[in-house]
Parts: sequence; structure tokens; C-alpha cells
Amino acid sequence: MSAEPKLINPSEIKISQTKMLIDGKWVDSASGKTFETINPATGEVIAHVAEGDREDVDRAVRAARKAFEEGPWRKMSARERGRCLYRLADLIEKHFDELAALETLNNGKPINESRSADLPLTIECYRYYAGWADKIEGKTIPINGPFFTYTRHEPVGVVGQIIPWNFPLLMQAWKWGPALAAGCTIVLKPAEQTPLTALRVGELALEAGIPEGVVNIVPGFGETAGAAVAEHMDIDKVAFTGSTEVGKLIMQAAGRSNLKRVTLELGGKSPNIVFADSDLDAALEGAFQGLFFNQGQCCCAGSRLFVEKNVYDDFAQKLVERSRKQVVGDPFDPKTTQGPQVSQEQFDKIMDYIRSGKEQGAKLLTGGNRVGSCGFFIEPTIFADVGEDMKIAREEIFGPVLSMIPFKDVDEVIARGNRTMYGLAAAVWTKDINKAHRLAAELKAGTVWINCYDVFDTAAPFGGFKMSGIGRELGSYALENYTEVKTVTVAL
Ligand code: ADP
Repeated sequence: MSAEPKLINPSEIKISQTKMLIDGKWVDSASGKTFETINPATGEVIAHVAEGDREDVDRAVRAARKAFEEGPWRKMSARERGRCLYRLADLIEKHFDELAALETLNNGKPINESRSADLPLTIECYRYYAGWADKIEGKTIPINGPFFTYTRHEPVGVVGQIIPWNFPLLMQAWKWGPALAAGCTIVLKPAEQTPLTALRVGELALEAGIPEGVVNIVPGFGETAGAAVAEHMDIDKVAFTGSTEVGKLIMQAAGRSNLKRVTLELGGKSPNIVFADSDLDAALEGAFQGLFFNQGQCCCAGSRLFVEKNVYDDFAQKLVERSRKQVVGDPFDPKTTQGPQVSQEQFDKIMDYIRSGKEQGAKLLTGGNRVGSCGFFIEPTIFADVGEDMKIAREEIFGPVLSMIPFKDVDEVIARGNRTMYGLAAAVWTKDINKAHRLAAELKAGTVWINCYDVFDTAAPFGGFKMSGIGRELGSYALENYTEVKTVTVAL
């Protein structure tokens, strides 16, 4: 990794892999079809990638099954599995500049953020789970009678993993780290918008000595390749990150097929709650970054900003001033703080939400327009006086659109904060420790940040209450997703 990002010319970024990875080999799709992957900053085609479908998923599952039942993975010691993961982390670090550039090219996120967030968190995640590989332990249990009972935490088997486009490298790490540490084998379907870094990491996984068939990557679309993963009769577990709508389909498919285990990390409409007694400068930055980070494309985005009435107007004005400092433009320019949305489809969806906010009577304080004439750029947009029944207050926008809502007191804001089908994250800004802990206890969300936002660590679990998901990723909790508990009882 070089200390400073060099100025990068996107046309010089090397695309080393566009095929799919099955059984340790790079192959075309069975149909021979490919699909375009787009640079969201320009709308231009970057590459054509092998388009996987049912038959390819079948092939990948067969390879993963063989690697799980017969391959060296099964016979390898847990410690050696851990060493494979350490080597993968080292290789990602070695190719830091290249991977950061590729992520920015395919996703549109500012190069500074690829370098300061996505890459470091990805590398840490693989290292963290490398360390877990030889520490997955069962228990001995004192039961009645002359018996010796113990548990084994065995890998669940072949796992299907379907990931989104907002943090492609990181979502792959959140899925691969614990699965590989536990000894599972994998069929990964990256998002159709952003397949390129996943394929590059596939190459590095082989270089790291992860045996063939252990990780398979089938790029393709959700309704075809993704659905084939969810419905497959020989996949033991599916892990999905994406929209709540598709999460329901995944669960139905699991129920219709083989009752594969399901974990889901889905959408959110997270309340970010600012009290008048907080450090208002810190809260302002937290409110701003909590929503606008990653072009607003975060499942945990603080998209409902509740601000206490007596500071609301002033806070609104300062937020607007803060938004003027956002530098929207070329994601490869190190000064850029906001790149394009990932795709035309997402761009259109967000512009529709902005229209609906205006139509339903929210007060547009700033933004609301496209930036430039090519690529999918949108101005940072802030609505004030957003009514709770408005679409922009209820539905996940997944874009740079912040909704401000005034509130009067603690009881009211707890009730209103919880009035959503989602429960992924929440934040509270206050200097009153009692209030902070009361809200932490009463907000129905998988993560509550107090006087901070978006603090992620590979050791801290993350996941949703209610319709934001099932199960927890990261930390030791994620290992439970990839292990089956076996009870063994021996007569003495
Ligand atoms: P978004 O709307 O943000 O793109 P999605 O939930 O549609 O989020 O996509 C997340 C991931 O789920 C992607 O990899 C996508 O291809 C996949 N996906 C979409 N639809 C389905 C489906 N019906 N079955 C399985 N996977 C799907």
C-alpha cells in the first residue's frame, strides 16, 4: 500500500478476471452468456462478465460439496485453515492500491473511502476470523447417569452467499471470514452491479492456498443465479445481505426447498436522535456522515434524523451549510467526498423518492437535483418537517436524502423512533448518561450508537431486529451461523 493515493486514470485499471470461479478454475458460463458491468461515474461499460445461471450454480455446488466431503479442506487442521485466511488477508493488503481502485471503478465510491474504510475493514475481517479458526470449541456437559456428554461445533456444510453492491469487498469478507474459519465451503453470488473485486479476491484466495472447490464464485443476476442458490437442494445454509423484499423471497425459497439455514441482513430506516444537551457540533457531523457516507447507500444509514425542538431550526441551517462542503464528483479525485449512485436504476429510484417528498409536502432545504449530465450523481438532499406517514420517512431510500423530524421529549422520541418495520441501527446524541442508556435499552435495533455513528469493528456483532434481518454477522456471533452443534453422549 502506498501512503498517498496516486492519481488514477480509470482506463489504466487492470481487470484481471471476468470469468466465474468453479472448482479452482476460471470458466465461462454454461450458456456462454455475459453481462455488462458499468462505471457509475460515466455510465460506460467497464467489462463483460460471465453470467451465471442455474446450471452454473449446480456445477459450483457440486464442487463445493466435493471439497467439503472429500477435499483437503476437511482434513486440514483448523490452524492450517486459519493460516489460509491470514495469507488471504496478506495478499489483499499487498494488492491494496489495485483493489481500492477497482472497488471505486465498479461501485463509484470515493477513492479515499475505499482506502480508508473498505480495504482496512476487509483485511481486518479476514485476519480476525483467521484467528478464530482454531478456537471454535464445544463444551462438556454434566448430564444425569454414567455418561460423558460433549458438543462438537461442526461446519454447517456448503453455504450459499448472496451479497449486495454497496460494500462489495467488505460484504464478501463478512461472509467468507466466518464461513471459512468454521470449515464450510462456499458458493458466492456477488451483486450484478459490482462483480469485479469479488473475482479478484477469488484469484487471491487460490494464491493463498485455499484448496480448489472451497470458494466458488458465480456472478449473475438475482432472479436467476441468486434464486438458484436460494432454492438449491444441496446447499445447507444461505446467507443473504440485501433488501427486505428479496430477503423474504430467500426465506420462502429455503422453506420450499430443503429448509436450509437462513441468515438475513436487510434494510433499515434508522433513527438518529439528537438531544439539545448533546455536543451539537459532533452530533451535526454524525448526522451528516450517518446519512451521506457511501452516497447514502448503507443499510444502517441514519435516514430519520430526530432533532429536539429547541435546537431544530439552528441544526437544520447548519446541516445545510455542512452539505455545501460535500464535494460531489469524480470518485478518483482524492478531494471528492461523494461519488455517483451505483446504477441508473438506483438513481431513478432515489429521484422518485425526492419527487414524492416534495409532493407530500416535506420542506426541501437543499439539493434534490442531479449533478452533471453523465454518471449517476445526486446532490446531497435534506428535507425538513418530514411527516411520519410520508414515503420518505417510511421507506428505505438508499441514497443521499436525509429526512429531519422535530421531537419534544424522551418518551415521544422512543415511540416514534421505534415506529418502523425495521430495526437495524439507531443513534443517540446526548451528554445525559441516564437518557443515553435508557434509549439504548428501549430502541428496538441491533446496534445503538451513543455519541457516534457507523462505528464498525469486525469483533462487534451487527444485524437486525424485526424486518431488518435474522442472525448476527461479525464477532464470535457470526460463527454460530456457520456451525451445527452436535451432542455426543458416551456410556461410561
Ligand atoms: P438492491 O435492490 O439494493 O440491489 P437486492 O436485494 O435486490 O438489493 O440485491 C441484493 C443481492 O440479492 C444481489 O446480489 C442480487 O442479485 C440478489 N437478488 C436479487 N433478487 C434475488 C432473488 N429473487 N433471489 C436471490 N437473490 C436475489
